[in-house]
Amino acid sequence: MNHKGPATRIIHNRRHKDQFGSPYSPVYNTTTYRFENTAALLDVIEGRSEGNLYTRWGTNPSIREVEQGLAGLEQAEAALAFGSGMAAISATLLAHGRNGIVCVGDLYGGTQELLKNHCMALGIPVTFLFREEQNRLAHELGESGKLVYFETPANPNMAILDIRAIAETAHQHGALVAVDNTFASPINQQPLELGADLVLHSATKYLSGHSDITAGALMTSAELAKPVAAWRKNLGQLIAPETAALLSRSLRTLPVRIRQHNENAMAVAEAMEQHPKITKVYYPGLPSFEGHDLAKQQMTGFGGMLSIEVEGGQQAAEKVADSLNIFLLATSLGGVESLVSQPSATSHHGLSREERLKRGIGDGMLRLSVGLEDAEDLIADLNQAIS
Ligand SMILES: *Cc1c(COP(=O)(O)O)cnc(C)c1O
Repeated sequence: MNHKGPATRIIHNRRHKDQFGSPYSPVYNTTTYRFENTAALLDVIEGRSEGNLYTRWGTNPSIREVEQGLAGLEQAEAALAFGSGMAAISATLLAHGRNGIVCVGDLYGGTQELLKNHCMALGIPVTFLFREEQNRLAHELGESGKLVYFETPANPNMAILDIRAIAETAHQHGALVAVDNTFASPINQQPLELGADLVLHSATKYLSGHSDITAGALMTSAELAKPVAAWRKNLGQLIAPETAALLSRSLRTLPVRIRQHNENAMAVAEAMEQHPKITKVYYPGLPSFEGHDLAKQQMTGFGGMLSIEVEGGQQAAEKVADSLNIFLLATSLGGVESLVSQPSATSHHGLSREERLKRGIGDGMLRLSVGLEDAEDLIADLNQAIS
């Protein structure tokens, strides 16, 4: 099936033919599996055959099926599904980042906390480089064995990092590259193809797409997945089989959902760019956006996330956020419903004003997760709230 397109592949992703003719697999909520004899059980425990053994190990048909779908989406050899995006990120950092982690650009708040409060407490050297400091990457990598970690587009100003260039520098210094691809989704961006070694997702966002499950994923080579699977197993970070089946269902509509997210966000971004009270629009699809050329090179669509800068600063932005009717005032992203949040009040609340401005997060910034409603209704909602 691998020569088929991503929409065909994900719809026809199933491992077993169902005896009743169901086009999709049932949910295997079982935690354990019976064997014909001890030799067969030992074959699985000692890795000679793939059978199912115990669900916490990830050996469960529903988990395996969603992992096959996830791997296919990023054209990866292997995928691991987790109970959350943070579970996927933490297991990956513990398995591959112990010689040191060099981060580039802005990171999701939870990832920053994990790196600063936990990885550093474990004695793992962690370095943070601003996007503008990429020329220091080679120096920071020093001797081999480190892990480069970044997000693109990054929260909340959609800054674009050059995956191919960073991967090249990293590999020259014997480092691995992990990219959090949550904002773009595998439909708009394929970091492995651009040279990354590990791709991470908060499947809570676009992959699930309905704001109703918490899950995470890692897509990588079979070799790099192996030590991460061991951490996942022993930290007990598995996705529940029921959730895995829900995620499998969501993945079947991912390509068509992303296409519409892209289209709606572009329409909203263009309308906001024309609005006299919006001083800046951060959307990779706009030719006026700083990272547009780079985005065009490495993305096939520009995604559903954008930020706007409202004239009048923090209070004006707050008033707009509170006056929206269709956009819901909520954190998170990637669902069918449109959401609005003010980075200074949510994801970057802990930073001083000076720090925020240094990261390009203006006082009047609002972040929009553009959903699948009718684009004209979303634009009308923004217009009434702004005026
Ligand atoms: C939400 C998010 C995460 C964390 O995912 P959870 O599923 O909430 O654990 C990591 N990275 C990015 C970019 C996110 O948006």
